[in-house]
Amino acid sequence: MSSFSDTKILAPAVGDPLTLIGNTPLVELTKFDTGLCRLFVKLENQNPGGSIKDRIGRSMIEAAEREGRLKPGGTLIEATAGNTGLGLALVAASRGYRLILVIPDKMAQEKVFHLRALGAQVVMTRSDVGKGHPDYYQDRAERLASEIPGAFYVNQFANPANPRAHEETTGPEIWEQVGHDLDAVVCGVGSGGTITGLGRYFRRVAPHVQMVLADPKGSILADYVRTGTVGEAGSWAVEGIGEDFIPPLSDLSLVSEAFVISDAESFVTARELVRREGILGGSSSGTLLAAALRYCQAQSTPKRVVTFICDSGNKYLSKMYNDFWMADQGYLTRPPAGDLRDLIS
Ligand code: PMP
Repeated sequence: MSSFSDTKILAPAVGDPLTLIGNTPLVELTKFDTGLCRLFVKLENQNPGGSIKDRIGRSMIEAAEREGRLKPGGTLIEATAGNTGLGLALVAASRGYRLILVIPDKMAQEKVFHLRALGAQVVMTRSDVGKGHPDYYQDRAERLASEIPGAFYVNQFANPANPRAHEETTGPEIWEQVGHDLDAVVCGVGSGGTITGLGRYFRRVAPHVQMVLADPKGSILADYVRTGTVGEAGSWAVEGIGEDFIPPLSDLSLVSEAFVISDAESFVTARELVRREGILGGSSSGTLLAAALRYCQAQSTPKRVVTFICDSGNKYLSKMYNDFWMADQGYLTRPPAGDLRDLIS
């Protein structure tokens, strides 16, 4: 139970908002059936840019500065409309870099507006072409980087400063926050930076800590962890995690168990999270929580488990938090709530 004595003394003012990246809170979930386990979530949505990707936005830019690949006033190029773009845009704005993002044209308008508001230049490209096509967003970004003098192609999928950010910050934070008493960490994989960095950190400081993969149904990664084979990818609606290839910098040999979670289970679990605990997470947070709950319920001895709220549910209000959208997509079986008839009946 909380009381006034729990109230923390607030930290003094800072002069650089980038110092607010990381050191995110850890909260224990108490309103779910976690079996014999205690389940904690790390609130990465509380980073200043709103997601876990602020950490790599800072680390990849600082590494490029240190290595002399990025000069004052220089240009950064990346291919993403997701949280990595927002994390980079935050750091680029505050450090005075020009940022060009190449974005497939299927991405939500809100994301593009958000990136432009932060000062990023957005280059739209085709969504209907695959790797190797000149208009594929990653190929286009790489080409732009070779054409603009001094431009630095960030490339989170192959940039070692991505997993390093988690090995050097996220891992030590978790270890300290749980009082050096932990059994498992449940992660999703987009670029693989989080799971690889955390896996490396825990292999060093506490090798008994299990790395558990939460993978959307349709992604090839869970199958790869279980069987070592790369299957045919399907499609999924959860954003930010799941892949149709093995991300080159990911080390999935660090993963001991994998859970496959459907879009419906991810969305319904995220909606339960905000109703029961008041935490408004994004769609990947639903996948991670659903996998963490399954892991917890399968344990026959008490365990301490950490998972993540990777980004905020604000970005998904018109989708998974909208009853009508959920019903339209077939994710809800009951009729949509929210119109006057519900109040009258
Ligand atoms: N959740 C969300 C919402 C994301 O945007 C991402 C990154 N694409 C992840 C999880 C996965 O992180 P990583 O790239 O480190 O594997």
